[in-house]
Amino acid sequence: MRWRMGRRSTNVEDRRGMRIGGRGAAGGGLGLIIILVIAVLLGADPVKLLNDISSTGVDQSSYYEQPPVSEEDQQLADFVSVVLADTEDTWTEIFTQYNGTYREPTLVLFTGAVESACGYAQSAVGPFYCPGDQKVYIDLDFYRDLKNRYQAPGDFAQAYVIAHEVGHHVQNLMGISDQVYQARQRASQADANRLSVLQELQADCFAGVWAHNANKARQILEEGDIEEGLNAASSIGDDRLQKQSQGRVTPDSFTHGSSAQRVRWFKKGLETGDVEACNTFEAKSL
Ligand SMILES: [Zn+2]
Repeated sequence: MRWRMGRRSTNVEDRRGMRIGGRGAAGGGLGLIIILVIAVLLGADPVKLLNDISSTGVDQSSYYEQPPVSEEDQQLADFVSVVLADTEDTWTEIFTQYNGTYREPTLVLFTGAVESACGYAQSAVGPFYCPGDQKVYIDLDFYRDLKNRYQAPGDFAQAYVIAHEVGHHVQNLMGISDQVYQARQRASQADANRLSVLQELQADCFAGVWAHNANKARQILEEGDIEEGLNAASSIGDDRLQKQSQGRVTPDSFTHGSSAQRVRWFKKGLETGDVEACNTFEAKSL
């Protein structure tokens, strides 16, 4: 994938190395309030006091340690930033065609575990999108898994992962996530899973729509990229993952779709570049 010349996004939030709920021992929160109350009772000017505290750094509420970032991870973070920026440009243009406004999501880089509006999550869940705060969360370690454990190497495979999560953001902006959420509340477990599959396959299709349009505008694709993306879609299909983890496949519990389905919908977006081709919810077959 040709990406090095690409624009970097300003919507990357780097929380790598951050401790969860890491309130500084030095103060902040309740401690700071108590100090303030006592000081004001003793006759201090609260505004001046707050300024003093700020300037001495006592009120740092998010104390964290930043371990040195490896060259490889720095490059990965750079790559992710370019892919995110490209999805911003591409989706802004598509939304404009439909007289809409694309609100850019934030992408959070984290290590180990993270706190989101959707709750606490560990890296093991994989990259995810939280509609509540409109942020995409990714631990770059996932890319090592993608390459080694899921046998899906390549930069375009990595881009597909981001584009899929951004696809969920697009669904959120379109009101689709909300509709699916409502429908799932009333559905049986099997139906709820089926709805989830439809939502995931649509996000795959949207990832393809991004790639198609980005390539048309900026010629990002190189020889072998398409295969990398399709291979990634296939390698993280539910059937493949289930077989790996439990040795058998139970389609009712699928929440993302089979490998073949994921490949088909990613391809559909990739070939058409058309959002309307991604209506998995109305499709006669998946
Ligand atoms: Zn997904």
